[in-house]
Amino acid sequence: MIPIAQPVIDQAAVNAISAVLSSGKLAQGEQVKSFEGMFASYCGTKYAVATSNGTNALQLALLASEIEPGDEVITTPFSFVASANSILYCQAKPIFADIDPLTFNIDPKNVERLIGPRTRAILGVHLYGQPFDVNEILSLCSKHNLAFIEDACQAHGAEYHGQRVGSFGIGCFSFYPTKNMTTGEGGMMTTNDTRIAEKASVLRNHGQRERYKHEMLGYNFRMTDIAAAIGITQLARLDEFNAKRIQNANYLSQAIRRINGLISPFVANGIKHVFHQYTIRVTSDYPISRDALKERLQEKGVSSAVHYPIPIHKQPMYERLGYSVTLPEAEKAASQVLSLPIHPSLTQSDLDTIIEALIYE
Ligand SMILES: *Cc1c(COP(=O)(O)O)cnc(C)c1O
Repeated sequence: MIPIAQPVIDQAAVNAISAVLSSGKLAQGEQVKSFEGMFASYCGTKYAVATSNGTNALQLALLASEIEPGDEVITTPFSFVASANSILYCQAKPIFADIDPLTFNIDPKNVERLIGPRTRAILGVHLYGQPFDVNEILSLCSKHNLAFIEDACQAHGAEYHGQRVGSFGIGCFSFYPTKNMTTGEGGMMTTNDTRIAEKASVLRNHGQRERYKHEMLGYNFRMTDIAAAIGITQLARLDEFNAKRIQNANYLSQAIRRINGLISPFVANGIKHVFHQYTIRVTSDYPISRDALKERLQEKGVSSAVHYPIPIHKQPMYERLGYSVTLPEAEKAASQVLSLPIHPSLTQSDLDTIIEALIYE
């Protein structure tokens, strides 16, 4: 079976873990500090604050931006649920702007009319590894004095007009094993703003700047030195991993463009898409349904996945909160998308197996 995701853990990672274990210093320490420095410099930001996962990084970004109960944060309905849940954790209200059908990302055209007196931030998601329209969102943020948060949990190393994501607003990354780089569990918040970085690092560690002096209600969002040591080895190979993902994507797209009823991923101009997911649309012109194709791929030894079958505003939990909006593009995408394996360990023969399984006869 060709898996949908496969972390690449090398001997350098094993050695790094082993060295941390032998040192006896396991919690947030020197390894975390080094990893933060390297990650900030990779993204081109002044600061990076390591966290225990990407969800924490998002919550930290919102808390550091002083998002308070009752505030509104505009975001996308088409993402992993953590993007919007991080807003709920602050007792703030996610407001959903429908997506651009080409990129699956938040469409700036739908954002401005949602900005009201309680709006405090825009939280965009660089979905599948493709940056959203940063310039448009940034100009709305400056015009309306809103915080700008980039959920880059799927977009490590992606670029918008030559600049890496996570460096435009407050960047939030995840190092879950399926992501473009991993630490097992882990996350990172990036920023150029000294005040945000400082507040986030205090909040991450139970609100203490000095040991046992708690200045605010903080959290334990710390990363372990074990995770950071893995992260350092993964960051060193991120560009190589991403290059392989892009190469795999180009190969698949070349074949998929010739298959009637399937739509290969669109890549916007000036964008470096790092293909966390390689997600196609299965339209009604294809001989069988999306779900039937998924079954068929499984039978032919190819795992696939639907990211995401239910848009966030349609999740049972959100419906219970009273969300009843209709967001046609997000809902249509949820019914058509299918992600195929794209990870760096795929062989030439895996890629050909995937293509053959898509050709229906
Ligand atoms: C993975 C992911 C998260 C959450 O990251 P965790 O490390 O799993 O907490 C948030 N947003 C998006 C878009 C993600 O893909």
